[in-house]
Amino acid sequence: MTPDTLLRLANLTVPRKPDRRPTLHPDPLAGPATAAQALGLRRVEAAQLTDLRELHETVVQLVDGLLGGRPVPRPAARLTTLAGPSSATVRLEVTENQNLRAQLDWSEPTPAATLARRVALELGEIDLARLKRCERPACNLVFYDATRPGTQRWHADSPCGNRERQRRHRAASRAGLRAADDGSHDVPPPLKRP
Ligand SMILES: [Zn+2]
Repeated sequence: MTPDTLLRLANLTVPRKPDRRPTLHPDPLAGPATAAQALGLRRVEAAQLTDLRELHETVVQLVDGLLGGRPVPRPAARLTTLAGPSSATVRLEVTENQNLRAQLDWSEPTPAATLARRVALELGEIDLARLKRCERPACNLVFYDATRPGTQRWHADSPCGNRERQRRHRAASRAGLRAADDGSHDVPPPLKRP
């Protein structure tokens, strides 16, 4: 599974294309309409923005802590509190061939509680070692590495992977040229003595 809600919140205010600024909505949580659009919600009330901002901050702190190898009990506790209003009831379903399936029906009291619950469930399920930040210095996007070997370094090949490979290639060529120049000056041609 991909932690879509977690990534959406962690990347909410990070430019998608770091080369193109300014972004259209630098802070999507500034108003209900842009917040709903950015978070994939049908509707957000102005009164719900405070909780959504707290949720966004919490997720950013949690992800920063996890990626930085720091302890995260505080943001984890805040996320738990934010998810608190969303509770579940269990329903036991009998399928056609007499199998039983337990189904959880979640209450959705506020957008912040719904999203916090989803983030908490995602975090409990993913492989945290695969949660990464794009290695391109100009980019700050967080991504989930779903490749089999788990060696993805950029959030996407376009633009970050391609740009980084170009940059590294150019840097390597320049270093190669300099080394060649230095070499020719440092070592004078051998003098022939009669
Ligand atoms: Zn990137």
